[in-house]
Amino acid sequence: MTADLVVVGSGFFGLTIAERAATELGLNVTVIDRRDHIGGNAYSETEAQTGIEVHRYGAHLFHTSNEKVWDYVNRFTTFTNYVHRVYGVHKGEVFPLPINLGTINQFFRANYTPAEARALIADQAGELAGTDPQNLNDKGIQLIGRPLYEAFIKHYTGKQWQTDPKDLPAGIISRLPVRYTYDNRYFNDTYEGLPTQGYTAWIERMADHPNITVTLSTDFFDESQPISKGNTVGNVPVIYTGAVDKYFDYAEGDLSWRTIDFEKEVLNTGDFQGTSVVNYNDAEVPYTRIIEPRHFHPERNYQTDKTIIMREFSRFAEKGDEPYYPVNTEADRAKLLAYRDLAKAEDNVLFGGRLGTYKYLDMHMAIGSALSMYENKIKPHFEGGEKLESGGVDA
Ligand code: FAD
Ligand code: UDP
Repeated sequence: MTADLVVVGSGFFGLTIAERAATELGLNVTVIDRRDHIGGNAYSETEAQTGIEVHRYGAHLFHTSNEKVWDYVNRFTTFTNYVHRVYGVHKGEVFPLPINLGTINQFFRANYTPAEARALIADQAGELAGTDPQNLNDKGIQLIGRPLYEAFIKHYTGKQWQTDPKDLPAGIISRLPVRYTYDNRYFNDTYEGLPTQGYTAWIERMADHPNITVTLSTDFFDESQPISKGNTVGNVPVIYTGAVDKYFDYAEGDLSWRTIDFEKEVLNTGDFQGTSVVNYNDAEVPYTRIIEPRHFHPERNYQTDKTIIMREFSRFAEKGDEPYYPVNTEADRAKLLAYRDLAKAEDNVLFGGRLGTYKYLDMHMAIGSALSMYENKIKPHFEGGEKLESGGVDA
């Protein structure tokens, strides 16, 4: 079957494009992935000793407020009513996160009302009042004051990013809500849940179309195989969701990424920590957090004599490591602008997804951005003959 469209990468971005193009336009789509499984970083599998679903590339929690995305994903899976909550250990004591009235009252050994807590934090953040901080350190202090920042953010962020918080963009910390109520839901979104039959079942359903061919263990830069960069670009439209710097052979320099080492351990207990995620906020503990995946699915009848946990250790990615989080320093942003110009000049290739745009995209953002690319670029190209051009990797 000759491909009308080639998609590089079978993560949520690539599969959304493939599914739309095959279902709505009837195109023959070939999806390649260099890994031996589909689904990109959202892939999950059953751990053999415990029978528990484990997210191979780190815990994935689905949440969105985007109606279009919610409608779309519900075509492929139902969702459980799981609501994500995170706890953090500081100086041997467990606190609810993200920072909320419960955290504040426990930390200050107090019984503040919402108004009193607000006044206290405003006072503690006073050193940065009226400023518009652009870095994570100053933004954090402005949001929650110095004592809470130093207890819960400073060292955790240092461990996670191995970069001085003064050199990190303020946006990273703005992802976390701060609440003056006892609500400790981790996410603010309208919809939240986990795929009832697991991530892989969801992902497989997206790819299950007679016009979609998925070829695994195939690297786009391996010129010995037919769907490589050299053999494809210029002949068939390509949606590329691999790393943008790699596509251009690092011509403008390497973009920096953070990766995570997961240390897995099967334990002879039915419950290790009583919840799915516990953060370790102090500098002395080398890992950032412990995940216990059984708690993602309390509705399942998992065996009760064993559990699996994963400790996460964060570090800079070297070539060959999995790139997980764009570090996005000022130097990275300058390189990215140069890559955007190169991407604009690349005819018939669109860059998308987390690696292709060097952006931290949650799953709903990757899917939403793929749906927009499909509507605004791919459909007009195939239906109306419009030129397939990238607005750069940001498009
Ligand atoms: P990916 O899933 O990375 O897929 C890209 C695919 O391209 C990969 O399969 C890769 O093998 C393939 N590829 C790359 N280069 C080549 C090549 N040269 N040739 C062939 N194939 C190639 N999102 C949430 O909403 N909630 C969460 O809780 C959450 N937690 C996360 C935790 C971690 C540790 C990480 C890393 C991400 C998390 N995310 C989370 C984000 C989520 O993983 C992404 O939004 C989603 O996977 C984006 O999909 P994507 O298609 O852009 O990229
Ligand atoms: N963060 C922190 N302490 C915490 C949780 C989060 O300092 O207990 C900071 C950290 O810098 C992290 C950012 O807030 O990268 C965003 O948190 P999130 O849970 O979204 O982390 P990520 O998805 O990056 O793992």
